[in-house]
Amino acid sequence: MLRITLPLPKDVTPAPTTSRVAIIGGGFTGASLARLLAVNGQYGPDDIVVFESRAGLGGGLAYGTRNPSLRLNVAAHRMRAVPGDPQAFVHWLSASGRLDLDPDAVGDGGIYARRADFAAFMAEQIQPFLDRGSVRHVRERAERICRRHGRWQIEGDRGASVQSDIVVIATGHPPPTPPDLLSDSLGGDARLISDPLPSGALQAIGPDDKVLVVGAGLTALDALGVLRAKGHCAEVTLLSRTGQLPQPQASGDFAPHGDFLIGVPNTALSLLERVRFALEEVTEAGLPWQSVFDALRHQGQAIWQALPLVEQRRVLRHLRRRFEAHRFRMSPQIAELVERERAAGRLRSRAGRIVAVRPGHAEIVVDIATKPHGIVVRHAARWIIAATGPDHGNVIGSQSCLADMEGSGLLRKDPHGLGIACDEDSRAVARDGYPVEDLFIAGPLARGAFGELTGVPEIAAQAERIVQQVLAMRFATTRTITIRSL
Ligand SMILES: Cc1cc2nc3c(=O)[nH]c(=O)nc-3n(C[C@H](O)[C@H](O)[C@H](O)COP(=O)(O)OP(=O)(O)OC[C@H]3O[C@@H](n4cnc5c(N)ncnc54)[C@H](O)[C@@H]3O)c2cc1C
Repeated sequence: MLRITLPLPKDVTPAPTTSRVAIIGGGFTGASLARLLAVNGQYGPDDIVVFESRAGLGGGLAYGTRNPSLRLNVAAHRMRAVPGDPQAFVHWLSASGRLDLDPDAVGDGGIYARRADFAAFMAEQIQPFLDRGSVRHVRERAERICRRHGRWQIEGDRGASVQSDIVVIATGHPPPTPPDLLSDSLGGDARLISDPLPSGALQAIGPDDKVLVVGAGLTALDALGVLRAKGHCAEVTLLSRTGQLPQPQASGDFAPHGDFLIGVPNTALSLLERVRFALEEVTEAGLPWQSVFDALRHQGQAIWQALPLVEQRRVLRHLRRRFEAHRFRMSPQIAELVERERAAGRLRSRAGRIVAVRPGHAEIVVDIATKPHGIVVRHAARWIIAATGPDHGNVIGSQSCLADMEGSGLLRKDPHGLGIACDEDSRAVARDGYPVEDLFIAGPLARGAFGELTGVPEIAAQAERIVQQVLAMRFATTRTITIRSL
């Protein structure tokens, strides 16, 4: 096979050939791991390498956007990104002057900052370690990860080749896959936007074009916010199985309510009963229902791990949708937009599923079997946006490096199809069922083992635990530092 090594851009130093820890993915998860490892000071130059093709570390898919209309869904004081300094982001917002530049960030119940500002905050956290060379950013996508002579060999898509003692997979959210019927009927048709998240994805939509969004979660509302911010004023319809939109955040500050760890429920039904009971309690006490879902989130990992596999499956089958609609809530700014748009009759939501698609010249016509009676209605729109979210079930298939590792038996899907299988120490579980001691799974990819592992505070805590384990490891090899010649 012919391998072409492209010249490196001027601002990029060549990748080292060896490292102690190679982190694959430099979003919030990868950047947090690198920073925590570097803070410890145990490693020398080039010992920590992050493969990430984006220009900066810390933003990733979630926050790596310049679009000012995209905000965090969570108030800044709840984005506890830095272990040991939970209010670091709030303080940074004021000290950096970003808050003065963005007065709309202040909403009912806190500061809902721009996602780009959170990325800038994370970038600043890691910058001193990049400057010192204790963390090296290899601006490449890892394409192949394999075992060679007792170490890992990572190859990037632009020629980097790094040997490492430890690998941490932190590749985050896989790309979405639009529903089959849409891709079969509209494959190659530019009017189907299969991923609204990349910047510029909605650019071609004209101000008067009717839009059908498939999905009604936070990604769908992001798309609505981006459209309206760029002057789009035509009707937007959100289609989902239930027709329900995410719930709003509660105003004011309140503590999580409910202790699910005393006599932890060990069935889906007993968990549901405990949640109902806690909801009754907060209603009587005049507290927001959101306080119960915040408690579930904080205690989520222990609750999940106490459930046997079969009960975890029941939770996913029967409770997941309802839980997620209350857990992943919209910012007050988006809640206001939704209210305004509904009142103006420009935003509709519909429960049902698409049963036929006909791409016409001017518009795409879809037949929707509506809920609850299955009556089929016809809907026409100029554009269809698939906002069904990341395709976690296909996370391994979406990446050549992960598919290769699965092929070699080094990792496998978790039993629920939420990500990659790992044990309670975040070590990948190989095909034979044993953990691989020097291969870690970090961030949302590890949700199968931990349940609740999507939000910043939970990921930061997992990163801290992984770092403790990595620092305790002894290496069989001695490192020689050589720089690959160009
Ligand atoms: C749009 C969106 C908004 C969110 N908002 C919030 C919020 O407000 N508050 C909150 O607490 N949580 C939020 N989340 C949850 C989010 O899961 C976490 O906060 C966190 O950002 C996940 O970070 P990550 O690095 O694991 O994943 P990602 O953000 O997906 O980043 C993964 C990175 O890995 C890189 N990568 C992938 N494959 C490779 C490869 N083969 N080689 C090299 N690099 C690779 C990608 O380029 C990407 O930069 C949001 C999630 C999304 C998707």
